[in-house]
Amino acid sequence: MPERSTPALVALAVLGLCACTPPEQARGIAISDVTVIDATNGVREHQTVIFDGDEITAVLPADGPIPAVTDTIDGSGGYLIPGLWDMHVHLTYDERFTEAMPAMFLAYGITSVRDTGGMIPLLEPVVGRMRAPDAIAPRVFFSGPLQDGRFVVYDGDSRPEIGAQNATPEAARASVNALADAGVDFIKVYEMVTPAVFEALVGTARQRGLPVAAHVPLSMLASQAGPAVDSMEHLRNIELDCADNGAALYEERLTILNSHEQGAGFELRSRLHALQRLPAIGRHDEARCARTIATLASTIQVPTLRLLTLSLHPPFVREDWADGLSHTPAEAAADWARAGTEWLTAEEPRDTTYDEWGLRMVGRMHAAGVPIAAGTDTPIGYAIPGYSLHTELERLVEAGLAPLEAIGAATLRPAEFFSLQGEMGAIEAGMRADLVLLDADPLADIRNTRRIRAVVSKGQPVN
Ligand SMILES: [Zn+2]
Repeated sequence: MPERSTPALVALAVLGLCACTPPEQARGIAISDVTVIDATNGVREHQTVIFDGDEITAVLPADGPIPAVTDTIDGSGGYLIPGLWDMHVHLTYDERFTEAMPAMFLAYGITSVRDTGGMIPLLEPVVGRMRAPDAIAPRVFFSGPLQDGRFVVYDGDSRPEIGAQNATPEAARASVNALADAGVDFIKVYEMVTPAVFEALVGTARQRGLPVAAHVPLSMLASQAGPAVDSMEHLRNIELDCADNGAALYEERLTILNSHEQGAGFELRSRLHALQRLPAIGRHDEARCARTIATLASTIQVPTLRLLTLSLHPPFVREDWADGLSHTPAEAAADWARAGTEWLTAEEPRDTTYDEWGLRMVGRMHAAGVPIAAGTDTPIGYAIPGYSLHTELERLVEAGLAPLEAIGAATLRPAEFFSLQGEMGAIEAGMRADLVLLDADPLADIRNTRRIRAVVSKGQPVN
């Protein structure tokens, strides 16, 4: 778990054991004399933040009059940021993690998650438990299955089943309507859809008032698909748009896609990536890429850099990796410890071309004003739930975001995806009460987001 200081434990113990009788009209809990940091307001020193249930009711100068409250958490010397989001998680991808995930997220300050792919019958009970009135769990937003094309990458055959088939535009419209009826919060579009199916999925999602997250489909360009959706995941398939021979690569890709008659979607996709990804990166054309990036000015990018830079920054070498694993469900932790040993003793050096491209691309996009959000793909790619979001923040800073912008990527941007920026993503009166109290300044070093003293989720202090 994150580092925690003894004074905080004492303060929380006092909080729980306080036998004093508060004044009659006292309401809410105060975090006293803290430095407040959020992406909307920047830095505000010596503030007292009061929340009452799931609402922040006041942010006031600590040395002025403060309304009576029932409890106080000592925030002095600390830094208060909005509750963090992980914008890309899979709660049901690996059942060894499902039950443990909500508590792991909260322990690391992640108070909201966006589940970007899972089957409805598996997700429904999980979401139901997390949303129960007395549940201590992050807020959860879910899409249901990845909406794929005639061929399905995650078909439950060669890969876990988290994808659904849409062979025709009619099927696509029916899929989205059924998901909207089932109560999903957004639609996730995947890589094997045709342009006609893509249009049907996005168009129906718009009719139903649902935001859309997408991988760039293999049959489309990033400059075509990107502007039509609200978020793009993993920078997937953007490299082709940036290659000086992009048109020829695209023709080759369409020929292969159109001649594919049978076989798993996963194999088809892997074949195309293996054939075209590194060659496209090798033919990078800056001017062409700038034109592509300009089309994405209002499409949130969730690059999952932690996953993309696994070869450059394997998690196994981190000094806090063993501690992270010690809080991971035992069976998975043992597998990952073994994988780490194998990885680190492998003779062949790993190619890091794609990793370096990903970091450069996020830097370019950020400089061009493209909105960036923080997501991990946990538990895919050795992503310890909660822990891995802090690694993503480090990678975003490495790519060129200022620490305050990285915090915005994990707070304000996700809220904007769901049009919730009036309720979440900043520390202001009227906002939801999701807060993380840190022992050290995250703007001085983004790794300080790991130094968690206390977490408030939906108005409840949870640790
Ligand atoms: Zn994913």
